[in-house]
Formats: sequence, structure tokens, C-alpha cells
Amino acid sequence: MIIDVHGHYTTAPAALGAWRDLQVAGLKEPGLAPSRASLSISDDELRESIEINQLAKMRERGIDLTVFSPRASFMAHHIGNFETSAIWAAICNELCHRVSEMFPDHFVGAAMLPQSPGVAPASCIPELERCVKEYGFVGINLNPDPSGGHWTSPPLTDRHWYPLYEKMVELDIPAMIHVSTSCNACFHTTGAHYLNADTTAFMQCLSGDLFKDFPTLRFLIPHGGGAVPYHWGRFRGLAQEMKKPLLEEHLLKNIFFDTCVYHQPGIDLLTGVIPVENVLFASEMIGAVRGLDPQTGHHFDDTRRYIEATPHLTDAQRHQVFEGNARRVFPRLDARLASKGL
Ligand SMILES: [Zn+2]
Repeated sequence: MIIDVHGHYTTAPAALGAWRDLQVAGLKEPGLAPSRASLSISDDELRESIEINQLAKMRERGIDLTVFSPRASFMAHHIGNFETSAIWAAICNELCHRVSEMFPDHFVGAAMLPQSPGVAPASCIPELERCVKEYGFVGINLNPDPSGGHWTSPPLTDRHWYPLYEKMVELDIPAMIHVSTSCNACFHTTGAHYLNADTTAFMQCLSGDLFKDFPTLRFLIPHGGGAVPYHWGRFRGLAQEMKKPLLEEHLLKNIFFDTCVYHQPGIDLLTGVIPVENVLFASEMIGAVRGLDPQTGHHFDDTRRYIEATPHLTDAQRHQVFEGNARRVFPRLDARLASKGL
């Protein structure tokens, strides 16, 4: 079985974006603010938006199941206040839930949280619980920088975040550490801000002792871990300077990396450096990099090909990357598959 742990609903019907535009306009002119009920997307529209896009590509590439969350760049937690994010997250999560109900063999949800700069993360718990308990979601996306590129929140190791971690541990769900749109002109959203955040999240965890307080907490760092695998020696050396335990002890029981790296040498490096137990298959399809690679003739984000081709993995290890690790890191996903006899 091939499980893609990183997919977003990037092809939602246009009505969703139009509703959001009105919501944002309503922040300046309250008369424009739309009601939640004014957004109506039929099952047929939803089905079509998936069948001709995500699902067609999954079938083409042999991906069985995708952990599916709202479009990351659309989260835009920096816009408005907590109420703005709360209703927006509720709408986006509900759509992913409907998709997962419509195609239960192919999609399982992960929640966007209603984060807002300066607001305590505990405010996200009701939406998180609803998504896990009522919708059957198996994970969350946690934005370490709800300000959108200005980094006004404390590091992930700060007690600021602890109420959320306590709930994650209680529900036994992992978080993908995933930022959203950059509103800082210095950082391109997907080319800089995302990769910066992946690297930053790892370094925050390295500097702290978070996993002493939460030994079962699990973070998935996307986009192949940003610069982390490439600079593994630097991180090992910094940990040594800081008198931290070896990274295997200090971080690798709790931190995992996905395979959203869009060329063969990158995947070869990732799988050559990071222990196989810590690598989970993902493509972030349909995402930021949708084009054909003229050097290979295949899509950049067709990451399965790179995993198949890398010399660093045996067949058993490939199975771990494609399925086994995902089932270990997402126990609720494992339970759901097991209940279907898979
Ligand atoms: Zn993503």
C-alpha cells in the first residue's frame, strides 16, 4: 500500500475562494462579511473537483491513500482575528471531511487549526477535537508562525504551545509543522518561507528539550525537512556544542521527515542521511510545483519514482517509507486501515 502523508485540497471549487475573498473584504467593511451558510458547494462539485484532479493523479501514480488537509497557503492565519480563522478553519476542515466521506478508501483528513497571531494555541482545541472525534481526522497541521513570515510566536519548545501538545498526546495524533502564506516580501511562500520554517522548526527542537516533557509527541517536518538533511553535520555539531544528546536520542524518536523533495539527488541524500524509520512518503500533490521536469520527462512532484530508484533503500525499507512508517506515526490511520482488514 502506498500512503501519501502530505496532500492539500488545492483544487476546491472556486466558490470557496470567493467566500474567503468576501470574508477578508468584510474585515474592512463589515457589511460585506458573508455568513457561513452562504457558502454552498454541492456533492457533485466536490466529487468532480477531486476525481479529475487529485484522485486521477493518485491513480496514475499508484498512490492508494492521501492524508488530506486544507490548502496550506490558504490558511493565512495572519488575516483577521481568531474569529476569522475559526470560521475559515471550520469551513475548510468540513470540506476535507466531506471528501474523505465520499472517497473513504483514498482520503483521510488532517486538520487545519484556527490559529491567530497572539492568541493562545489552546483556543484551537475545540476545532481539533471536533476534527478528530467527529470527522475521524488522523493528524493536524500546526503553523509555527501564524504571523505569516514575521515569526512573532515563541519557539515550538515554549510552554506557550503545551496545551496543544497535551491534547495531541491525549488523542495520539502527530502534527505536520506547516506554515502558510508569507506576508513578508523577503520570503517567497513556497520557495523560501516553507523551507525556512522546516529548518527553523527542527533547530528550535534541537535547542530545547521539548521531548523530555512529551516523550510521545510526534512532529512531521515536511518538504524533506528543509535544509536539515543536507546540513546534518552542522546540526550534529551544534547539538554537540550545546551538550545535547545524540540526535538519534534527542530528536529522532519524535521528529519525522516527508519525501516532498523534487529531484532524485535530493531523495538520495534524504534517504542516505536520515534513518529509514524517520522518512514518510509524500508528494504534496497537487501543490506548488506542478510542472514537468524537462530533464526527466516526469512531473517534479511524482516523488514515488525517486523512492523506487534510490539506491539507499531495500524493498523492505521502501515498504517502511511507503506504508509502515505512516501507520506508526499516525496510529489513528493505522487503526482505521486495520478495521478494514488492511
Ligand atoms: Zn503542504
